[in-house]
Amino acid sequence: MTVKVSHTAEIQKLFNEAAGLTNDQGSPRVKQIILRLINDAARLIEDLEITDDEFWHAVDYLNRLGGRNEAGLLVPGLGLEHFLDILQDAKDAQAGLTGGTPRTIEGPLYVAGAPMADGQVRMDDGSEPDATVMFLEGVVRDTDGKPVAGAVVDLWHANTQGNYSYFDKSQSDYNLRRRIVTNAEGRYRARSIVPSGYGCAPDGPTQECLDLLGRHGQRPAHVHFFISAPGHRHLTTQINLSGEQYLWDDFAYATREGLVGDINFVEDVDAARARDVQGSRFATLEFDFQLQKAPAQVAEQRSKRPRALQD
Ligand code: FE
Repeated sequence: MTVKVSHTAEIQKLFNEAAGLTNDQGSPRVKQIILRLINDAARLIEDLEITDDEFWHAVDYLNRLGGRNEAGLLVPGLGLEHFLDILQDAKDAQAGLTGGTPRTIEGPLYVAGAPMADGQVRMDDGSEPDATVMFLEGVVRDTDGKPVAGAVVDLWHANTQGNYSYFDKSQSDYNLRRRIVTNAEGRYRARSIVPSGYGCAPDGPTQECLDLLGRHGQRPAHVHFFISAPGHRHLTTQINLSGEQYLWDDFAYATREGLVGDINFVEDVDAARARDVQGSRFATLEFDFQLQKAPAQVAEQRSKRPRALQD
């Protein structure tokens, strides 16, 4: 029979003390959360009869997860970041906030402060001459279909190796990261390169966990976006590229209906030359966004999630 002690007065007194409930210092909110966390952990240990070996393995795992800076990778891998999106969608529906481009997960690889440009920009630094040039453009509109001029389209994506600048120190600062301010027609235009999908580091703790779950750690090629404009609700989203092996089998669960970018590969020497592309091959990708009206000014801002900032 399973032995349980977490409900006893002695243990409840211990957990209340540990969560700071017996003092008047600190944060009541954090105390509430930690008390719940300790109690839930204790119940999990009892209910699943967690062994000492399993417990201390988990503690060591947390140390290694942090040591590799992968907590932000495990969270989407376990579906929790997508869950937050679905939960927010449900809260929005209850509040009558519907319409517009769907949100999807941010992921852990944004870097604040990318260079700003008006209307159009080149995003790659030319260091991958064999990459396929990608012309990415679209219009930002409100939910009535009116173009939003002056919206900031803050986008970032991986290179052909599936790596992101800043985290991959071999790339130049802010390579494949830009902020584009939409023109009078609400349009943004980027010349970049077709990104590659990527996977979790094979020797990292996230993949170690996924292996034990019998899962892969791969993502389809995609482009991340923050889109913001005065009077409109901040949008965090990404477009996942059509034709990708992992499009609907994304370990991070980011792909959603309405967020598949239809990438079009062109083989045409004259068209390439007209676009100042070497050779004959390039890609085009059109993607428009719709922003909801902001119900309050705070909704215009992205979350205060801690993010990297280029030194
Ligand atoms: Fe990504």
